[in-house]
Amino acid sequence: MKKLLIATHNEHKLQEFRLILEPLGIEVVGADELHIPDCDESGTIFHENSLQKALWAMRHANLPTLADDSGLCVHALNNEPGVFSARFAEKNGGYQNAFKILFQKLKDTSDWSAHFTCCLCLAIPDKEPLFFVGNVSGKLTNKPNDSQSHFGYDPIFIPDGFDKTFGALPATTKKDLSHRGRAVSELIAYLKDKPL
Ligand code: IMP
Repeated sequence: MKKLLIATHNEHKLQEFRLILEPLGIEVVGADELHIPDCDESGTIFHENSLQKALWAMRHANLPTLADDSGLCVHALNNEPGVFSARFAEKNGGYQNAFKILFQKLKDTSDWSAHFTCCLCLAIPDKEPLFFVGNVSGKLTNKPNDSQSHFGYDPIFIPDGFDKTFGALPATTKKDLSHRGRAVSELIAYLKDKPL
């Protein structure tokens, strides 16, 4: 079985990748398992950060490595928090506070549309890195329904065509629909032609 390192310390992300990649015969290992230290994210666009994370982890482990950089882009807020999604929550004392701040910033507009973006970078030793991108459009809600997933902004994001938030949709529905799921579909199409 081919081994693919996922350059993340985020257990939610790792589980999402496992769910998608293991049925394809790919053994997924996380950065924690290999004791890979955190990588600086100094980029201002998703591509830059995913490349930094992928190269950093690949050089530590000398394994094919997949890194993702993802975030929530709120249209009326000039696509904020974007690449700073995780840091926006950290700096404001957690996601519940971050949600309140977003709602406050949006109080004078009816445009609560947003999208999630995921940029994957696949880095294989001695090869050029490759990128795969996925997006999912939707809108924010300040009346979240019961969330099963408390990952990031899942509790306040309703994908287009649904009346429930990502947090309230089954994990398998989110897997097919999400920005990460879509970026991974591109990756899988690539791996069919060029296996790891
Ligand atoms: P990264 O780990 O630096 O790429 O940060 C991504 C951040 O974007 C996460 O920590 C969440 O705050 C947010 N995010 C990305 N994807 C999702 C998702 O599928 N659901 C909810 N929040 C997400």
